[in-house]
Amino acid sequence: MTEKPKGMATANIHAEAVRDVLGSPHVPLYDTTTFKFDSTQDLLDVVEGRADGFLYTRYGMNPTIRSLEAKLANLDGAESSLAFSSGMAALSSLFLAHGRQGIVCLGDAYGGTLELLSSQLPGLGIQTHQLLLAEIDKLDALLATGVGLVFFETPTNPRLELIDIRRVAALAHAHGALVAIDNTFATPVNQRPLALGADIVMQSATKYLGGHSDLTAGVVSADKNLLHPIQPWRKNLGQTIAPEIAHKLSRSLSTLVIRVEKHNANAMAVATFLHGHKAVKRVYYPGLADSPDHALASAQMSGFGGMVTFEVNGSVQHATRFIDSLQVFSLAPSLGGVESLATQPVTTSHHDMAADERTARGISDTMIRLSVGLEDESDLVDDLDQALARAF
Ligand code: PLP
Repeated sequence: MTEKPKGMATANIHAEAVRDVLGSPHVPLYDTTTFKFDSTQDLLDVVEGRADGFLYTRYGMNPTIRSLEAKLANLDGAESSLAFSSGMAALSSLFLAHGRQGIVCLGDAYGGTLELLSSQLPGLGIQTHQLLLAEIDKLDALLATGVGLVFFETPTNPRLELIDIRRVAALAHAHGALVAIDNTFATPVNQRPLALGADIVMQSATKYLGGHSDLTAGVVSADKNLLHPIQPWRKNLGQTIAPEIAHKLSRSLSTLVIRVEKHNANAMAVATFLHGHKAVKRVYYPGLADSPDHALASAQMSGFGGMVTFEVNGSVQHATRFIDSLQVFSLAPSLGGVESLATQPVTTSHHDMAADERTARGISDTMIRLSVGLEDESDLVDDLDQALARAF
């Protein structure tokens, strides 16, 4: 009889590469930088790949890091994962390893990613292209020139627009290009890009995976043959996650499924409240039935996420007054933690972008992005209600 596959929460809690010899239910923290061997032959067996073993922590050859990576690979439905010291570390090694034939970034992306792609990688001879979502029909022609990597976020920041992973993967693969997705906003609980046809998935683990606004980390997951070229960049740029952070992140991952389910539920309640409010001009949330992306979100996501964006029906001053009147939500430029946060993209993530480019990307001055946390739903809705009342 074939064994029934375990549910995501069960598999996640029990996925570990290494079992502790003393019986600890989780792999403990090995803060060790190096590992001792009984003989030169034993050392060479590990160095030359004949035996499994641990060697040097910066190489990622550390039980705490390996255990975390087993958990991450399980979550992403990947053959393997590499854990990094930040989301940007993960992205930069990914681009350096797989971007040599050019990178096209589709739609909106995190500001640091856009800066890396537009200002830094071209200086190293890596050609990069950006296509707005409205220009997606130009992708085919661009791929025909031999661009080797298509990269995108879905849902995008801050408008929470969706990109059809299956469709883009089919097009890219027809041209022999790889597809890499930043799944930070969705998390593997709500969306599994590899199962939808992407080749590589990455996340800033600083956000939902860590989930408590107390660690910085990143992950790339894929088949081993695609991680192979990334590994030496991680090693020699010194981007490997620290064991202390790996240990903390492993602990956070154990509660990821239940946290994301509550983020989803709270965000839906917040989006529904805002949708019906007279001081709100437009709500961006793929879970709303009248969102233009609702059908695609229902097809490629199993939950709609904890991020909600909206525009107030007023001026930039109304938006700022609203933010400054919040009491449960805090003004802070991150996302994915237990506490609810609010930002204006124009003062944070997109502050340094030229105004006409913001306009081209549909990012208005009255836009507010919420990272909906795990507080009681009614307290969050009441807080938004009172802040809107004060702002107008
Ligand atoms: N990707 C997304 C979607 C992000 O929002 C961020 C940071 O906000 C990053 C990547 C970079 O992650 P980190 O801050 O962990 O380097």
